[in-house]
Amino acid sequence: MAEYEELTACEASLEMLKKAAEDGQETAFDRVKQQKGCAFGEAGSCCRICNMGPCRINPKKPDESRGVCGATMDTIVARNFARMVAGGSSAHSDHGRAVAETLVMAAKGEATDYEIKDRIKLLEVAADLDIEIGERSIEDIALEVGERCVGMFGQQEGELDFAQRAPEPRKEIWRQLGIFPRGIDREVVELMHRTSIGVDQDYENILLQASRCALSDGWGGSMIGTELQDIMFETPVPIESKVNLGVLKEDEVNIIVHGHEPLLSEMIVLATNLPEMQEKAKSMGAKGINLSGICCTANEILTRHGIPIAGNVLQQELALLTGAVEAMVVDVQCVYQGIGQIANCIHTDIITTSPKAKMPFAKHIEFHEDHALDIAKEIVSVAIDNYPKRGKVAIPDKTESLIAGFNHEYINYMLGGKFRASYRPLNDAVIDGRIRGVVGVVGCNNPRVKHDDINVRVVRELIANGCLVVMTGCAAQSVAKAGLMLPEVARDICPQGLWEVCEAVGIPPVLHLGSCVDNSRILIALTAMVNEGGLGDDISDLPAVGCAPEWMSEKAIAIGQYFVASGAAVVFGVSWPTTGSKNVTDLLFEKYNDIYKNSWHFEADPEKMVGKLLTLIDGKREALGISAKRERVLYDMAMRRELKI
Ligand code: SF4
Ligand code: SF4
Repeated sequence: MAEYEELTACEASLEMLKKAAEDGQETAFDRVKQQKGCAFGEAGSCCRICNMGPCRINPKKPDESRGVCGATMDTIVARNFARMVAGGSSAHSDHGRAVAETLVMAAKGEATDYEIKDRIKLLEVAADLDIEIGERSIEDIALEVGERCVGMFGQQEGELDFAQRAPEPRKEIWRQLGIFPRGIDREVVELMHRTSIGVDQDYENILLQASRCALSDGWGGSMIGTELQDIMFETPVPIESKVNLGVLKEDEVNIIVHGHEPLLSEMIVLATNLPEMQEKAKSMGAKGINLSGICCTANEILTRHGIPIAGNVLQQELALLTGAVEAMVVDVQCVYQGIGQIANCIHTDIITTSPKAKMPFAKHIEFHEDHALDIAKEIVSVAIDNYPKRGKVAIPDKTESLIAGFNHEYINYMLGGKFRASYRPLNDAVIDGRIRGVVGVVGCNNPRVKHDDINVRVVRELIANGCLVVMTGCAAQSVAKAGLMLPEVARDICPQGLWEVCEAVGIPPVLHLGSCVDNSRILIALTAMVNEGGLGDDISDLPAVGCAPEWMSEKAIAIGQYFVASGAAVVFGVSWPTTGSKNVTDLLFEKYNDIYKNSWHFEADPEKMVGKLLTLIDGKREALGISAKRERVLYDMAMRRELKI
């Protein structure tokens, strides 16, 4: 058992790892030991983008060799990093495109299972896009919003509309650098072109386009995903739920949705609640249907419906090993091929649903938005049919409660009230030191480091040091499992200032903001803090930092790059993919402070990572002139006007 304790900080996962070994089943935790890693790949110094290669430059002797085409270490490392940004941006953005296309279909009456649930959000987004509201019908407005968003993918010139939401000084930086994103697809295509053989061979220039591409994700594809999902499925509000493998039920049909796009998972929620489906489950001897989620699609239905989370990305194989899952329904992104191999040995069906993502050992039931609910019913039906085929079941008796469903709209409302929605109290709490700073902790799990351990340790220490933490992705699920997303945690762990704020507004010190595309919510929240006043003129002035302690996906690199290009410092853990080139690493870690007024940082050790985050926050506080511990004062309008910061 001790050897497994090195692998995960999650008790339910520990139990399942032991069971995997007993059953002779292999998981990512085993395969990571077989994949030792390669020094060239780790340094980013291997190039295989043309057939004269692969070419490898020795990270210890970077100046002694070049690729066959003459490419230097700097060029190769910058290209590899930039292509991670392109890959990550394309994933978020293709998700956003599917949502925009579905909104158009729904508005035209061609996808009748989808609705415009959040009309207020629709009108807000329409107003931001300068779309006329007048006496027009909701469907008409939704159609124009959807079509404008679809258009942003193919836009060739000009400036992306949602990027206009950024603070003015930030937009000026982008314009001066020539990186204001034009169209979402254009930036990805141009980055892929520029990093192919014999094109852009200036590492600084390559990374400028990487920023432009990443910005088209954060302020484009991801933001479209978040905004339009809110319109169709409602903007989340705080909601209580449970997390970890113990949410699976022994006497019910267990269906897990896994992947990213709520277009599918929302329909599965609807289908599982239909009386006909519940009856069918009972006719098979089950007490009902129990839906849960894994990864970001779990975050989507958690924040809107309170559907429990079975686990994060590293628990997808472990969930199947309980023997209690009738179907794991997947769409796109972060779905391990390993689940097919495990499912092949047990009664579970892996059901792929996207024409973009098929896999061996899976049943493919293709999802189409124009008859979404019928397909969801077919999927649920397949799961129910599997229930009698179950063998022995072993569900860890481990769950934790959490409150999720926070976002810019709710922060605004909870702090200011319905009629005076405002970030003023948040900014005041930061200014008077009750909140030391705001840290976005995002990203994944990675079996190269102890599962959940770093995410949890970093967040616990941050809130103990007075930081308000906002979270998305699988990192949020790590921290929820550790019980840190409950309001009562504030009094136990946080210093007096932070717990007073948390208690006054009834929030936990760690706010679950949703899925990975919902990192766009953090951009909006940071911009709202700037616009509220008193904390500088740009995102780069705020005592706010981002970090991804256990990242693995290239989507995390895209997110980091758009945060840095938007002015927020970012600290990543695990390992860093540009170490082969001193010039590229210096650019990202040092020179970006001149270019973007903040930069990337790397720190694998959780304690040192917290130290770095606090130093960055305190540096901003000092620059704002709010570093000294102040007596708590209530700012009236006159005092606010006098505030020079
Ligand atoms: S592009 Fe250059 S460095 Fe890369 S594989 Fe081809 S020859 Fe080698
Ligand atoms: S946080 Fe990482 S692992 Fe989890 S769903 Fe997002 S990209 Fe995938």
